[in-house]
Amino acid sequence: MILTLDKSVIIDGIYKYLSVEKFKNEICKGEVCFICGAKESEKEFNNEHILPDWILRKFNLHSKSIALPNLARFKYYNYKIPCCKECNSLLGKEVENPISQLFSQDYTFLTEHVKFNGIRTIFVWLSLIYIKSHLKDNFLRIDRDFRSSDLKIGELYDWETMHHIHCVARSFYTKCNISQDAFGTIVILPAKVLSYYSNFDYCDTYDGKAVLLRMNDICIIAILNDSCGSLSLYGKELCRLTSPLSPLQCREVFANLILINQKIRKNQLIIRHLKIQINLQ
Ligand SMILES: [Zn+2]
Repeated sequence: MILTLDKSVIIDGIYKYLSVEKFKNEICKGEVCFICGAKESEKEFNNEHILPDWILRKFNLHSKSIALPNLARFKYYNYKIPCCKECNSLLGKEVENPISQLFSQDYTFLTEHVKFNGIRTIFVWLSLIYIKSHLKDNFLRIDRDFRSSDLKIGELYDWETMHHIHCVARSFYTKCNISQDAFGTIVILPAKVLSYYSNFDYCDTYDGKAVLLRMNDICIIAILNDSCGSLSLYGKELCRLTSPLSPLQCREVFANLILINQKIRKNQLIIRHLKIQINLQ
């Protein structure tokens, strides 16, 4: 084992743990593979879709656009970040293939799977999408007018707050065990499917550290940094949701969970109370 000067840990030639410093100075700069940290001069790169290609194909999204935080739109087919070919293949094998199988069925199938197998794979997968989406913001200008400042959207972020999410996201590569306490809230809701509703939705937020993905009759929401605190506070309300939700209702639940997470972050007294609750369970 090698402990580097910046406090990263290398075992058997791979970075098992990337320090906050290395994460901010190398991964977030966008010139290395976001999983293993290799430079383009060291490995072959083929880049990675932020929303997996199987989703783009399933919902015919390649020519459609995602709305960015600066309200500009960006085509999904080109919505990618640097990734080496080796990590990209591993990601496909370890994460995307099993997840695409899970989502090839309906809400009942997915929830039964989670009951017996837990949420680890899904949580890691959502953490991956979230971190890719925000790393991409380091390449995107806030102001698309080239006569204005060259400041990138990602330069407004406090990247240290996303280090934990990055650690969880790359655990398929590091093979590190993730403590149950490190997982955040994850909610799987039945979504209403009607001919006049879009059968796909994706949202994430920097402040709330949250992601929503709705595909056909499944809506999945994750709060990636709350150790299930938001779920503890909002669980009773969620139990009342017994019927499939419309797209707007899915977003309403998403917004409520984000608000709770933001309040938790801002109120240390509530955090202490939650820790007591969690420890008692
Ligand atoms: Zn790599």
